[in-house]
Amino acid sequence: MLKIDGKLIASELRDKLKKEVSVLKSKYNTIPGLTVILVGEDPASKIYVKNKEKFALEVGLNSEVIKYPESVEEKVVLDKINELNNNPRVSGILVQLPLPKHINKKKVIETILPTKDVDGFHPVNVGNLSLGYDSVVPCTPLGCYLLIKKFEKNLNGKKAVVVGRSNLNGKPMTQLLLKENCTVTITHSKTIDLKGECLKGDIVVAAVGIPKLVKGDWVKKGAIVIDVGINKTANGIVGDVDFEEVSKVAKAITPVPGGVGPMTIACLLKNTVECFKKVQSK
Ligand code: NAD
Repeated sequence: MLKIDGKLIASELRDKLKKEVSVLKSKYNTIPGLTVILVGEDPASKIYVKNKEKFALEVGLNSEVIKYPESVEEKVVLDKINELNNNPRVSGILVQLPLPKHINKKKVIETILPTKDVDGFHPVNVGNLSLGYDSVVPCTPLGCYLLIKKFEKNLNGKKAVVVGRSNLNGKPMTQLLLKENCTVTITHSKTIDLKGECLKGDIVVAAVGIPKLVKGDWVKKGAIVIDVGINKTANGIVGDVDFEEVSKVAKAITPVPGGVGPMTIACLLKNTVECFKKVQSK
C-alpha cells in the first residue's frame, strides 16, 4: 500500500508555481494577485485564510485579505467584489465560506467575475466544467484529481465511485473523473447500498463529513482511495475513510491530515496563476 503524500505533492506544486510566477513577472512586469474576503470570526475560516495568505506570499503572489465584521451589510461586500473585479492587480477573488445568514451566498458568488473566480463556484465555471470546456475547477476536487493522476496516469474505463454529491466536492469531482473517461457512480445520503457501490470502485473518493464512514470491507483490493473528509473527533482530526482498515486493502490511499488538505491551498494558488495567465494572454 502506498500512502499518498499530499503534503509533499502540494509542496512540489508550490515550488513549480513559484518558478512560474518568477517567469511571469519577467515577462509581464507584474504578478498574479489573490484577494480573500473574510467575514466574521469563525475560527476555522480564520486559520484557512491565514494559511492561504502564507502560501500565496511564499509562491510570490500579491496577497491581500479584506476582513469585515460579522454584521457587515451585504451591499458592502458586493460593492467590494465589484471594485476588485475592476482592479487589474487582482487576478483571483475568494470569499471565504461560510458567510453569515444575512448575506446571500449565491449573490456573492455570482458577483465575482468568472475569470477571477478562483474557487470555481460561479455558475459559468460550473457550467463550463460540466460541458467539458476550459473552466476554473474547484480547488479540493482539483487537488484530488492531481493526486489520482500522479499515481495513475491512464484512467480510461476505470470505475470510480464518488461518495457525496456536494457542489463543492462530489459534483465537480464526478465531472473531472468523467473527463478522464472513468465510469463514475456518484453516491449520497439516500444511496441504498453504499457499501456495495463502493466495492465496485477502482477509485473511491469520499467527501461526506462522517468520521471513518468507509470501512475496510467497503473497498475493492487494489483500489485507489482519496479521503476528502476533515472531521474533528475526540481523538483528533480524522477523515471519512477508516485509514487503518482501508490501508490494508487499497493500493494507494491519502491520509488525513496530510493528504487532500494541503492540495486544496496549492490548487487555489494554481487557479490564481491560471486566471492571471488567461487575462495576460488576451
Ligand atoms: P457537504 O455536507 O456539503 O456534503 C456532504 C455530502 O455527503 C452530501 O452530498 C450528502 O448527500 C453526502 N452524505 C451525507 N451522509 C451520507 C451517508 N451516510 N452516506 C453517503 N453520503 C452521505 O460536505 P462537503 O462540503 O462536500 O465536505 C465533505 C467533507 O470534506 C467534510 O468533512 C469537509 O470538512 C471536508 N472538506 C475537506 C476539504 C479539504 O481541503 N480536504 C475541503 C472541503 C471540505
